[in-house]
Amino acid sequence: MNQPGTMRAVALTELGGPQHLVETRLPIPAPADDEVLIRVHTVAVNHQDLFTMSGRAHKADLSFPHVMGIDPSGVVAGIGSRVATLEVGQRVVVKPPIACGACDSCERGQDDSCPYLHNVGVHRWGGHAEFVTVPERSVFAIAPGLGHANATALAHSFPVAEQMFSRVGLTADDVVLVAGSSGAIGYAAVQLAKLAGAFVIGAAGSPGRAALAVAAGADATIDYTAEPGFAGTVRGIVPEGVTVYLDPASNPRVWTETLKTLRNRARVVVCGSHAGPLVELNNNWLFRSRVAIYGSSGSTRRGMRRCLDLAAAGRIDPGIDSVRPLSSIREAYADLGSRRNVGKIVLRVAGEDA
Ligand SMILES: [Zn+2]
Repeated sequence: MNQPGTMRAVALTELGGPQHLVETRLPIPAPADDEVLIRVHTVAVNHQDLFTMSGRAHKADLSFPHVMGIDPSGVVAGIGSRVATLEVGQRVVVKPPIACGACDSCERGQDDSCPYLHNVGVHRWGGHAEFVTVPERSVFAIAPGLGHANATALAHSFPVAEQMFSRVGLTADDVVLVAGSSGAIGYAAVQLAKLAGAFVIGAAGSPGRAALAVAAGADATIDYTAEPGFAGTVRGIVPEGVTVYLDPASNPRVWTETLKTLRNRARVVVCGSHAGPLVELNNNWLFRSRVAIYGSSGSTRRGMRRCLDLAAAGRIDPGIDSVRPLSSIREAYADLGSRRNVGKIVLRVAGEDA
């Protein structure tokens, strides 16, 4: 039964896994001076949530009930007194890591490196609910042509991939190898590299997943499960070698083999370690090859805006696996955890537009 001032929500009641997610009613949060109250239409399930449920989300001291959901999209339902750039009724999406907006990194536009980053749905309640409050600086207006489900689907992964290419200074002359090219970040990276005019090789762990890299626009693919020693094949495709190696997972075998494909002065950029994290590096090779290795984590407001604009213009496909009702959330996490999905699983909280 609905109670005034309350909202439908899915809450985590204790750590351990999706079995501790329950549908409940919670108070509708009130926006602080610098915050926006959003009526949520869509939100995705993400690996970040699996970390949160396991208790491995760093710096997060959870109290229960806790509401997850890092990438909600919806309509502004209320604003704090100091909110200047958004108004009630606007369609918006949330950028998951919230930067402080005031430190040296933020002032330089390097808000991916803000030391005060925190996450919607991890360090504060998120979008697995009818309403969520988020600081204005992490709420982005979306164009009329961009549906909520698509905005949600791109909000986490695309700006992360965009930031990785920003780190290495991607150009149209680059030959890019994307590891894990069918994963959320890899799928985004293939599309963004093609938009930049680069030649793109997608590396994936099965023929089906390699096909997804082709669908994203990859010029060639490598199945590193079927062909563990793929460096020769890559050299056959691009005899002069790869100039940018983007790695979202740090799989040690893919790493070692890919380093053999790099041209002198190539750039390597890493944003994740779930398949590693320890990899081999021969410093003799490193200094002789003049290769540069970059770490990258999170995204910037600039990158988020760019990806939203590209999606609104129809130039990138956010890659939705399915849109499901919020009530199916446990099954959604089961599918995500066993990697049965291809693309984002988006949950519908309200509304009907894509
Ligand atoms: Zn900051």
